[in-house]
Amino acid sequence: MATTDSLIDVQPSPDAPQRHRLLIVDDDLAVRMVSRLALSKAGFGVTEASGGYTALSWLDSHRFDAILLDARMPGMDGFETCRKMREQLNGAPVPIIMATGQDDDDSIDAAFESGATDFVVKPLNWRIISQRLSSLIGASAVKKHLKSRSHQISSMLKTSSETMLLLDSAGIIQGTHQIERLPTELRAQMIVGRNVFHSLDDAFSDPVIVAWSTAQRTQDCESFIVEYSEEGKRQTVQGRFVPGAEGEWLCLLQDQSAVFDCEQQAVDLAYKDPATGIANEKRLLEELGNRLRDDRETHSQTAVLRFSASDLRNFEPAIGRDGVAKMAQVIVERLELGLDSFLSTLPVETKRPEHLIARLSESDYVIIFSALHDSEFIEDLATLILRRVSTSIEIGDHLLSIDWTVGIADTGEASSTTDGLLTATAYAIQSDLRSSSGHRVHRYNAELKAKIKLDIEIERLLRRDIADGVLEMYYQPKFDLSDLSLIGMEALIRWNNAEMGFVSPAQFIPIAEKSGLIISLSHLVVEKVFDQIVAWREEGYRTVPVSINISGIHLNTRTIVEEFRAGIQHHRIPPELVELEVTESIMVDGMSKAFKNLTDLRDMGIRVAIDDFGTGYSSLSYLKDLPADCLKIDRSFVQSITSDPTAEAIARAIITVGHDVNLHVIAEGAETAEQLNKLAELGCDSVQGYFTGKPVPSSEFSVFFEGSLLAS
Ligand code: C2E
Ligand code: MG
Ligand code: MG
Repeated sequence: MATTDSLIDVQPSPDAPQRHRLLIVDDDLAVRMVSRLALSKAGFGVTEASGGYTALSWLDSHRFDAILLDARMPGMDGFETCRKMREQLNGAPVPIIMATGQDDDDSIDAAFESGATDFVVKPLNWRIISQRLSSLIGASAVKKHLKSRSHQISSMLKTSSETMLLLDSAGIIQGTHQIERLPTELRAQMIVGRNVFHSLDDAFSDPVIVAWSTAQRTQDCESFIVEYSEEGKRQTVQGRFVPGAEGEWLCLLQDQSAVFDCEQQAVDLAYKDPATGIANEKRLLEELGNRLRDDRETHSQTAVLRFSASDLRNFEPAIGRDGVAKMAQVIVERLELGLDSFLSTLPVETKRPEHLIARLSESDYVIIFSALHDSEFIEDLATLILRRVSTSIEIGDHLLSIDWTVGIADTGEASSTTDGLLTATAYAIQSDLRSSSGHRVHRYNAELKAKIKLDIEIERLLRRDIADGVLEMYYQPKFDLSDLSLIGMEALIRWNNAEMGFVSPAQFIPIAEKSGLIISLSHLVVEKVFDQIVAWREEGYRTVPVSINISGIHLNTRTIVEEFRAGIQHHRIPPELVELEVTESIMVDGMSKAFKNLTDLRDMGIRVAIDDFGTGYSSLSYLKDLPADCLKIDRSFVQSITSDPTAEAIARAIITVGHDVNLHVIAEGAETAEQLNKLAELGCDSVQGYFTGKPVPSSEFSVFFEGSLLAS
């Protein structure tokens, strides 16, 4: 079989793109020439092939919009060529018109069988052929377009994650696509032939029915979201109804549970405290802002309750980060329980105040109350919750107690802005100046603000005057009650500031303790007292022990023992001439070093007195364990000792127990002869008070040494 055709072929030429490219295959040169002339005129770009082989090779390397193929050709005939062409075209819808003999029915059948699109009979009518070619080429283009569209649609469906239900106008499921992508329970309900609305569970039927009726009314797309729980897991399915052809509807469904889970996680990360799961600072600020806005509109009040703990990070070395997180969880539990139990005491008819618990920082918890008409109850609530959160927390082997302070601020007294309210709670907390442990609730008001401003000013001036050494020591004598001989004195600091005048230690010592200034103040006091002892000794006075008031904060430092050792050696002072007055606050948690330091100082020969006895922990049982020599009965008992039998009874008990554990007992603040007599009668050892001598500058103290000059 010949594998080449006649050489008289017309090579395919680069036609103008708008012209249809036509391949004419005919062994008859004359037919080809006439065809080319006629069809070129009709606007076709014509390529000729004299036989099947040439035609197939043109087809291999060029694209044609249509082929006119002679059925009867020598070598490879038109039918064989057509078959091979179809193979080569690989499904491309290029129309092939076969030219057959007149009434040659067999050829016509064979033409279609071999893949021809149409046939024409010879002799060829060029007008008909050109029209037929044009319409076949047009149809082929449409077919091609449709094919690619259907391909697009099917790949769209394949790649889409949506489930598709085809519904008739009544909602009966006609067909489903990708049903397996739905959550199990929902999938089970989507059965072809069933009405989709009858299939649905109550959990998600409502939003779906609403969307369906809207879609029916508007004849437009309508979306919906259904949320329900499947085996304890939250499921979210998003859907929309889309109008289709002839009253049919598409229901497109997408399982969005994972997306919503992620979104929820992102929201949690942004708005929740990771350790406790309660609202974090960001959420608190947003929520407080919203509630303030609402309350402004409804003329109701918002109140903020802030629980501030002594620094929780102090516990970290002992219990680790995990332990601190556990502690935070226990705190939150207690806050919630406290709140619940308070709210449950409110009369049933009272509307429960709206509230939110949040963690503002590592050590700060906040409860906000909104829509209030009366915020009086907040203080009682704070006290109740405080009692709960203050109980020791057990973490592993550790029993930890936290020192809390509570600040309250409300829109009535403080501010109507988020920042203003929170700052006001900080002010309220800052107003707590007691350094000893205790549970405190402070409510912000204008008076408190003024006080805080004053405290800040005092701190500023005190800092400057300590640096300049402006403060001075006064000395108050102590006398033996049996013979009224001088047995000692207490050094008391005096501050006469250039701007503020005389400021009482009762006012500035707590500020110094809170600001940390107490350490440098204490160094100044010790230095001045040691210098004074040396001066009196050099002047030849029979010196008596001098008491120095030492703050628990100083006593709790690492260096205090060495400071005293060095000071005593440097000044060559007998240690028994120095007495330290400390309060019972050193017995509280967090002062563990203080206790040990006091023992070391006492071992050094320094005397120790427990000041203001009876006002603090007042537990007589720990007295025997204290490294002390002396008890000072607080002035409050002494002042009413002759008028109040309870005060007398307490003073008597302190004297008795003090003596039982071999302590010297001194009473402070005696102002009258009656008080002095009563104290003597109760067996008190000594006394210090205005009656026997007010605190005086060192230069005036010599009167108390009267008769004690060694020289005289
Ligand atoms: P304190 O240690 O209990 O001192 C006794 C206070 O009672 C002194 O007040 C003293 O002047 C006063 N006082 C003594 N007898 C009477 C009396 O008969 N009637 C009345 N009404 N008061 C009497 P002062 O000097 O104002 O000191 C107050 C507190 O300040 C002291 O209480 C002490 O806790 C603290 N303080 C004073 N000086 C120092 C100091 O140098 N360092 C430290 N850390 N605290 C000091
Ligand atoms: Mg004292
Ligand atoms: Mg005292």
